[in-house]
Amino acid sequence: MKFEDLKLISPILDALKDQNYSEPTEIQVKSIPLVLNGDDVLGSAQTGTGKTAAFEIPIIQHLMNGEQNHLKNRKISSLVVTPTRELAIQIEENFKAYSKYTHIRSTVIFGGVSQHSQTRALKNGIDILIATPGRLLDLINQGYISLKGIKYFVLDEADRMLDMGFIHDIKKIIQKLPKKRQSLFFSATMPQNIVDLSRQILVNPKKVSVNPVSSAAETIKQFLYMTNKDKKRNLLLHILSDPKLEQVLLFSRTKHGANKIVKNLSKKNINCAAIHGDRNQNQRQKALKDFKDGNIRVLVATDIAARGIDINKLRYVINYDIPNESETYVHRIGRCGRAGEEGIAISICEPEENAYVRNIEKLIKQKIPLISSNPFPQTDKPMNNAEKKEFERQKQKRRQEFFANRNKNKKKLGLIEKEGKQY
Ligand code: AMP
Repeated sequence: MKFEDLKLISPILDALKDQNYSEPTEIQVKSIPLVLNGDDVLGSAQTGTGKTAAFEIPIIQHLMNGEQNHLKNRKISSLVVTPTRELAIQIEENFKAYSKYTHIRSTVIFGGVSQHSQTRALKNGIDILIATPGRLLDLINQGYISLKGIKYFVLDEADRMLDMGFIHDIKKIIQKLPKKRQSLFFSATMPQNIVDLSRQILVNPKKVSVNPVSSAAETIKQFLYMTNKDKKRNLLLHILSDPKLEQVLLFSRTKHGANKIVKNLSKKNINCAAIHGDRNQNQRQKALKDFKDGNIRVLVATDIAARGIDINKLRYVINYDIPNESETYVHRIGRCGRAGEEGIAISICEPEENAYVRNIEKLIKQKIPLISSNPFPQTDKPMNNAEKKEFERQKQKRRQEFFANRNKNKKKLGLIEKEGKQY
């Protein structure tokens, strides 16, 4: 299937060419015709499947079809509500990319920063608004935004929206929308409360489902290290001593844990930064940009901060701890191996988390391969002197190997498997 087969107009096809997208993803093939047809859509898809373009492309086409109207009297006709600022920024960047050959204007609003530049953009007139719920309601209440002209409404990452406590905000927003509109609702998981919420928003929706959350993307190879709490720090250094892990997104359950990891890695001269709720918007954006630009090697994130983050061609994810919700594991590892790229997810498990691993394996219906060459295996005792010595010996050996190979090793990364290692 080609984008041309989806009956898209040439300004969009040209923009997609510029993005080097050769063909639509499954969710795009399934959703775009429905949205173009004017149907409400209930989409079950996790990030990484191309779902953002699946709703953005047909919305742009709708707006272009009604161009005469909207250009004369520019008011917000499309609204996308999404839970996190990072996601909002990315959605807007994508809108801009896909609509670059049109006159459509979009802007993004989110909390945690001054509203001044956001209200200025709104006053200039826009067609598409991407917003997080709190700032949206705030600016509606201040009179900067009216939702009366909304024709296309998207609720993105609905499950995370509820997890983050946005349910009341969402309900208030829905009440302000015109009854006659087209609505699209996307969620990675579809528990009962999400289905109930979708019923309040959608009319006779067409259901679209790809990659249910229980199936970790096929392109992601998963590995497991079993260890103890007091060995995790050294185990992480052991894992990172492998130069093939050029860039890693590392998950920590807590903000405090994330800060500690950054401190420890920095001591070992590993370039890293943290993104979590206690860091302000500028710090988070800078960390993300530095990571995307390749200036930092390890980005340490909590689950909420990392939600929906789109890092092109990210190959490695490390779970420094095992999440107690199995779905969170699937979301985490879904950060790598996106849109068909190969990804490797490495998880570190301490004894208290063994049960979580079993639950995850049940959900994903596969066993996560255990790394046997682990210098810090899980025991019921803390690391003894012999183990510590062995660790130092291995570290030294790897360091020597690393420097010996550094110049030889310029070729783009192949899977380590090919070289007889385990991932
Ligand atoms: P999403 O699931 O919307 O977060 O998209 C994941 C990634 O896939 C983003 O980096 C998109 O730019 C990229 N992407 C979306 N559609 C395509 C496509 N048809 N071909 C290649 N990459 C795509």
